[in-house]
Amino acid sequence: MDCLFCKIIDGAIPSSKVYEDDKIYAFKDINPQAPVHVLVIPKVHISSMDEVNEANAESVKHIFVMIPQIAKSLGLENGYRVISNCGDDGCQSVKHLHFHILGGKKLNENMA
Ligand code: 5GP
Ligand code: ZN
Repeated sequence: MDCLFCKIIDGAIPSSKVYEDDKIYAFKDINPQAPVHVLVIPKVHISSMDEVNEANAESVKHIFVMIPQIAKSLGLENGYRVISNCGDDGCQSVKHLHFHILGGKKLNENMA
């Protein structure tokens, strides 16, 4: 499968790793939109939020369990934002489910 984030998980494309375990991988966004901008992805290929279901939700659950710990390791004690863009209207550019963690400053109140 020709998927950028699957290649990052495999190590075929280098990335700046923040956290990894058997189910998920977290790495720095190549084009940061905030002082801290990390992407958290499931190791299993799920193309978007639209494709989450009972059969593959374990890795998604694990992402949400780990996000607070990843955020703490990034020094985001004062808060942060988690975003998942889905589909064309959501401006999803990489078709492998990912959650942006943004922080390190007071973020804009507008989200759309
Ligand atoms: P989306 O627009 O799909 O929600 O987010 C995709 C994100 O992936 C963007 O923020 C973009 O900067 C990031 N990105 C795209 N290609 C690469 C890459 O090769 N390496 C890393 N680390 N991030 C990437
Ligand atoms: Zn993938």
